[in-house]
Amino acid sequence: MRLLLVEDDTMIGEAVLEALRGAHYAVDWVRDGAMADTALASQDYDLMLLDLGLPRRDGLQVLRALRARKSTLPVLVATARDAVGDRIAGLDAGADDYVVKPYDIDELQARIRALLRRGAGQAGPAFEHNGVSLNPATREASVQGAPVSLSAREWAVLEPMLARPGVVFSRAQLEEKLFSWKDEVSSNAVEVYIHGVRKKLGADVIQTVRGLGYLVPRS
Ligand code: CA
Repeated sequence: MRLLLVEDDTMIGEAVLEALRGAHYAVDWVRDGAMADTALASQDYDLMLLDLGLPRRDGLQVLRALRARKSTLPVLVATARDAVGDRIAGLDAGADDYVVKPYDIDELQARIRALLRRGAGQAGPAFEHNGVSLNPATREASVQGAPVSLSAREWAVLEPMLARPGVVFSRAQLEEKLFSWKDEVSSNAVEVYIHGVRKKLGADVIQTVRGLGYLVPRS
């Protein structure tokens, strides 16, 4: 899953970036509202963590513009502990949830998992389909109830497809889920990880759609 982190405080940004990358998300970090607009226009994200007090263009403006474009991107806004008014304004502007600063990193991660799950229409804690289960909180993968050990990259390539069965992902889209701006990407990376997933979970877990990409079949 690829996340956009919008945070102008360097120390907070670095800490959150490290924590989210440690949880195997691909994360892009921008430090002002104008750059957030640019990032949103150029990349497909699964979630945005948005600070409200930002230089150049504040978080509420970024959020209102995003919703005016009819985007359903899950958005978590960050506000100061005593700023109840900001939380209300954020939710009313289209945020899905909020976190208070200073962040409790574990709570932040749990709220991110909850929003990603809800975005995928999953009721339980795991992404489940066709006997395959990925639980982002425990990092446990299983097929027909039998535990399987996936590498972080194999997980990252399977998770977005498992979250949206029947939807075709191009190689470029999967690369976006796997890597942030600064990462070096080898040309066959996606194929390598898909091969690994098939070897561990079964060949038909991920289908190739010739000329288009890959999908987790609907049933
Ligand atoms: Ca700020």
